Amino acid sequence: MNIKLYPALLAAILCLGCAKTSQNSFYNVEKFADLQILRYKVPGFEELSLKQKTLVYYLTQAALEGRDILFDQNGKYNLTIRKTLEAVYVNYKGDKSSKDFQELETYLKRVWFSSGIHHHYAEDKFRPGFSEVFFREAVKETAAELLPLKEGQNHEQLLEEIVPAMFNPNIMAKKVNKKDGEDLLLTSSMNYYDGVNQAEAEAFYNKMRKKDEKHPISYGLNSRLVKRNGKLIEEVYKEGGKYSAAIEKIIGWLEKAEKTAENEAQKKTIAKLIEFYKTGDLHVFDEYSILWVKDLDSRIDFVNGFTEVYGDPLGIKASWESLVNFKDLEATKRTETISANADWFEQNSPTDKIFKKEKAKGVSAKVITAAILAGDLYPSTAIGINLPNANWIRKEHGSKSVTIGNITDAYNKAAHGNGFNEEFVIGKTELNLIDKYGDLTENLHTDLHECLGHASGKLMPGVHEKALKAYSSSIEEARADLFGLYFIADPKMIELGLLPSPEAYKAQYYTYMMNGLLTQLVRIEPGNNIEEAHMLNRQLIAKYVLDKAQPSKAVELVKKNGKTFVQINDYQKLRELFGELLKEIQRVKSTGDYETARNLIEKYAVKVDSEIHKEILERNKKLNIAPYKGFVNPVYEPVYDAQGNITDIKISYDEGYAEQMLRYGREYGNL
Ligand code: ZN
Repeated sequence: MNIKLYPALLAAILCLGCAKTSQNSFYNVEKFADLQILRYKVPGFEELSLKQKTLVYYLTQAALEGRDILFDQNGKYNLTIRKTLEAVYVNYKGDKSSKDFQELETYLKRVWFSSGIHHHYAEDKFRPGFSEVFFREAVKETAAELLPLKEGQNHEQLLEEIVPAMFNPNIMAKKVNKKDGEDLLLTSSMNYYDGVNQAEAEAFYNKMRKKDEKHPISYGLNSRLVKRNGKLIEEVYKEGGKYSAAIEKIIGWLEKAEKTAENEAQKKTIAKLIEFYKTGDLHVFDEYSILWVKDLDSRIDFVNGFTEVYGDPLGIKASWESLVNFKDLEATKRTETISANADWFEQNSPTDKIFKKEKAKGVSAKVITAAILAGDLYPSTAIGINLPNANWIRKEHGSKSVTIGNITDAYNKAAHGNGFNEEFVIGKTELNLIDKYGDLTENLHTDLHECLGHASGKLMPGVHEKALKAYSSSIEEARADLFGLYFIADPKMIELGLLPSPEAYKAQYYTYMMNGLLTQLVRIEPGNNIEEAHMLNRQLIAKYVLDKAQPSKAVELVKKNGKTFVQINDYQKLRELFGELLKEIQRVKSTGDYETARNLIEKYAVKVDSEIHKEILERNKKLNIAPYKGFVNPVYEPVYDAQGNITDIKISYDEGYAEQMLRYGREYGNL
C-alpha cells in the first residue's frame, strides 16, 4: 500500500530544466515493446566518506543477491525460462538478424524487465513473437552444459517443462487475478501457493490470527504455502529454508555491512535483519521494523526484504525487494525550511479562521538519493516510499516517508526532447518558462502538498475523517494540491529562498492546467470516465477554475490549427481562483459537507469530454512515447590495496541494459 509511483504522464510533462540532447542520451538507454529503459545518476556518492561508500557497496551487494527470489515468486518456471533464453541468446550460432532471433531478444528483454513472463503492470502473460519451432531448434542446438538442466533432464524434457508456459495462451494467463467470484489462487499463476485453493489458504491463515490482538503478526508474509500429501505446510523463506542459497549470500554481505555501520542504532538494525533472515521468525521481523523506523540519524539507509504484498491476490505474501540510499542533504533542507514555517502558511492561507489549526506543524519528509534498485524495485521503481507496512508499528512508532530525488530527476531529464511539451504547450513563452523553472516548481509543489497541504486545517468537533465517504480522498488531494498552488505564487517563496524568480510559479500553473484539462487524459481508455483520486482532483481544480474564469478570461481553452491548447492570460487572477476554491474545499472538509463534495466532483471531476479526449489520444500517439519506464543501475567497483583493504569505491554509468542483466545472471544467479 505504501508506494508512490511516478505517473507515466508526468514523466513526459515535466520536460524541463536543460534541454540539451547530449543530456537526454545519458538518461535514455533503449526502447523496446512498450518499455523505455533509463539511467539515473547518483550525485553526492563521491563526497561520502570511504566508510560510508564501503557501507553502500556492501548493501548494494546484499541487494543484488536477492534477484532470483523475485523471479521465482512471480512464477515457478520463470528462472528456468530466463536461463534457457539467456543460453540461447548468448550462444546462438544461426542468423542473429533473422526475425525469429530479434523477437527472441525482445522477449528476453521483457522477461528481464518483468522478472518473469507476465507484464509487470497489466499482469497478463506476454506472447513470444518467435515461433515455437524456432525456439525448439535453437534450444536443441545449445550445448547441455549451458542450459539449466535438472539432474537427469535432457533437452526434450526441458522443453516440455517450459514451452507450454511460454507459448500456450491458456496456461498461466494471468499472474495476479483479482476478479470477484473466481478462485483467486487457482486463476493466478504467481508462485506464493502450490496446490492450494483460496478457501484453504484463507482458512489456514484465519486460524492463526487471534482476535483483538494489539500487535498482530504479519502471518504468511515470508513463506510459500503448499499442499503436500493432503496437508498444508509453509515453506519459510530463510537460511536453511526456501531460497536459502540466495539468503545466505544476502546475510554474508549484511554481516560486512554491520561491521561498517555508521552508528550503534544502524548496527543493531542490520543485526536484527540478519537474525530475521536466519530464523524466518515474524516477531523478529517486527522488532527489526521498529529499529529501522527509529534509525533517523544515519545518512545511509536501505530496504532489504519481503516487503510489499501486491503480487499475492490475497495480499498476504510479500515479494522481495531492496533499495539502498543516502539522504540528499540539500533537498532535505528545502522540505525542512517549509516545515519550519508551517504555521506562517497556515495563518496566511485563504481559509476561514475557524477551520485553521491554532498551531500548525509541518511533516518533515526526507529526500533521498538511490544508490541501487533491486528485486521488486528494479528495473521499474517507485519515486516515493512509506514504510513499514504494519499498521500498529506505524501508529506506535511512526513511519519513514521518503521521496527519491535522483529517480524523479532522471525521469524529468529523460523526457527532454521527446516532443511532448512541444506538442501540447501553446507557445514559446510558456515553453521557456517550463524549461527554466518546471523541474524546480514541480518538486516544490509536491513538497508543499506533502509537508503542509495534508497537514493543514482541522475538522469541526464531531465531524468524522471519512464524512465525505467515497469523495474523501479526491477532496483531500484537491485540498493539498490547492494549498501548494496558492502558495507557490506567494512572495514568501522568494523570501525563503525556495524560488529564484517571481516568474517561476507560472511554469507550475501552466503545466498544472494543461495536465488537468488535457494531457492527463492520455491515461484514460476511450469511452471511460475518470476514477482515480489524483486524476479526479486535478480535473476538479482545472475545470472549476476554467469555469469561474469565464467572465475575466484569465484562463481559456483555445484552438490553433485545429488543436486545443490552454491559454493563461492572467496568472494572478488564476491564483485568486485557486485561493477561492481552497477556501471552499477546506470548509467542505472541516464541516463534512457531503452534498457539496458530491456536487463539485460530479460536476467538474468525473466526466471526460469525448471530443477533446479523442484529440489528445491521437496527438499523443503520434509522439510514440513508451508508457512504461525502468532503470539500469550504476556499477560499483571496490579498489583494493596490496593488503586487500578497500581504499575506494568507484562508480560508473556505462553498462547497457542487456549487458547488466546478463552480468547479474552470472554474478547473482543464486537459485
Ligand atoms: Zn496527497
